[in-house]
Amino acid sequence: MAHFSPGPNDSPVTFDAIIVGAGFAGLYMLHRLRGLGLSARVIEAGDGVGGTWYWNRYPGARCDIESLEYQYGFDDDLAREWDWTERYATQPEILRYANHVADRFNLRPDIQFETRVIGAAFDEQAHRWVVETDRGDRFVARFCIMATGCLSVSRVPGYAGLESFEGDRYHTGAWPHEGVDFSGKRVAVIGTGSSAIQSIPIIAAQAKQLVVFQRTPNFSIPAMNGPIDPELAARLKENYTEHRRVARTTAGGVAGQAPDKSALEVSDEERRRRYEERWQRGGLTIGGTFTDIAINPAANETAAEFVRSKIREIVKNPETAELLCPKGYPFATKRLCVDTNYFETFNRDNVQLVDIRDAPIEEITPTGLRTAKAAYEFDVIVFATGFDAMTGALLKMDIRGRNGLSLRSKWEHGPRTYLGLQVAGFPNLFTITGPGSPSVLSNMIVSIEQHVDWIAGCLEFMQQRQMETIEATTDAEDAWVEHVNAVAEHTLYPLANSWYIGANIPGKPRVFMPYVGGVGVYGRKCEEVAANGYEGFRLEARVLA
Ligand SMILES: Cc1cc2nc3c(=O)[nH]c(=O)nc-3n(C[C@H](O)[C@H](O)[C@H](O)COP(=O)(O)OP(=O)(O)OC[C@H]3O[C@@H](n4cnc5c(N)ncnc54)[C@H](O)[C@@H]3O)c2cc1C
Repeated sequence: MAHFSPGPNDSPVTFDAIIVGAGFAGLYMLHRLRGLGLSARVIEAGDGVGGTWYWNRYPGARCDIESLEYQYGFDDDLAREWDWTERYATQPEILRYANHVADRFNLRPDIQFETRVIGAAFDEQAHRWVVETDRGDRFVARFCIMATGCLSVSRVPGYAGLESFEGDRYHTGAWPHEGVDFSGKRVAVIGTGSSAIQSIPIIAAQAKQLVVFQRTPNFSIPAMNGPIDPELAARLKENYTEHRRVARTTAGGVAGQAPDKSALEVSDEERRRRYEERWQRGGLTIGGTFTDIAINPAANETAAEFVRSKIREIVKNPETAELLCPKGYPFATKRLCVDTNYFETFNRDNVQLVDIRDAPIEEITPTGLRTAKAAYEFDVIVFATGFDAMTGALLKMDIRGRNGLSLRSKWEHGPRTYLGLQVAGFPNLFTITGPGSPSVLSNMIVSIEQHVDWIAGCLEFMQQRQMETIEATTDAEDAWVEHVNAVAEHTLYPLANSWYIGANIPGKPRVFMPYVGGVGVYGRKCEEVAANGYEGFRLEARVLA
């Protein structure tokens, strides 16, 4: 797309803000902008709201942060009137919730569906963003807010012969709305990340035969899912906003007991007891059993070995068990998974595990696929191969700031932001849960709300003071990027070839993208910046004609 500015005959449609994406971030952003009296339009590629929960309809898809935490916290009435049925809600239930929110706050009239933003360019004379869509729309807006999601661009590896496959193929992140019936089918699942781990037990129960192709085994913890505890739900509903306020002060955005001991200062017996207790409770909290799991290799290894011992207990075939045991990278430095009967599934007679590190997939064939060691025949191939995380959706668009500078060239060596909220050279453009913020390392609804609230506060400040533009300074951006890297280097995270570091995308710069400092620390920093008159940002006043 060329660097354009609205011409006299274009009659573009004008708004105070264009919001790209109608997931949880876009929906709440729209609600807040309306509250400020600003006009906004949301542009969404899908034909409904919900983002992640609209696209990821694969069998077994559900949240892995408990539902009572994975919900909006900005409105006590909303929290009071919505009842979750399970500790970890299914995708259909979460999608119903997103639709309920859209209806309850009457958001749909300001959302344009089935429209993809292909580019956005900053017009330096008019101080406006010109946003272009695949339907030929041109919108002009003072602010452009990217609520495009961190995990919204699915990725299929470029296998030779991919198009030749004569059976059905699906990506978990773009699942058909009508569902897929695997009965009597020979099925391949490629990948063993979170989506694979959730879907494999359900596909295995239906399919005639399932072969799982694994490159890197993942640490997974049982969800211990079940019905919602009605007493806990009632207690939280009494004052959900206060519950959320506390969650925002924690590292991960979930209120709970913070660890108080190093894994290395307790006896072997005590350590095992504590891990066992968290394992039985289920879910992600096992990562917070001790203070030093994320920073000390020896402490981390105790958690890793505990999970491996569980895998060896569950999986009957010792060779398969060993293949499923994650090794060579520290515990929880790749996205920790939460499952229901994942490891147990490998005890089924119709399920086989293939190690593609030992025998890489060489090509997809018309009837299946071929690895370096064997050929397989399938009716269906499921790609559970993840996403171009954090930067994928932003870089798919042609975003141009001052002097026609493209975001793609600015981020050629990895993303650079100030607080994950703005990019120097791109005035009045905001990113929600962008790289450089806690984002995917946290309960994302908490991080989304924190970003949306901050952006809304910033726009209100600008309104009150007749400010025209806000832009991160290069100095502030450089200092923040340096800080984000320094904090990550202090942990074990960079040791894993994870999507946090872009390792799943060939050629993607290896930069640790999210901010590891924690939701609480980060939130305080954002508040300080605002309280100091938006320190690190350059604000320019409106020039009155
Ligand atoms: C399977 C799965 C399970 C998850 N489980 C959890 C969990 O348990 N807890 C947790 O905290 N997080 C979880 N996440 C992360 C999840 O993405 C966030 O929690 C949250 O839903 C993100 O909301 P969002 O609005 O920021 O982005 P999204 O929900 O990704 O929405 C972004 C929207 O933007 C649209 N879009 C993107 N680019 C364009 C464009 N150019 N033009 C128009 N529209 C565009 C997309 O179509 C999409 O609808 C999960 C993610 C996945 C994939």
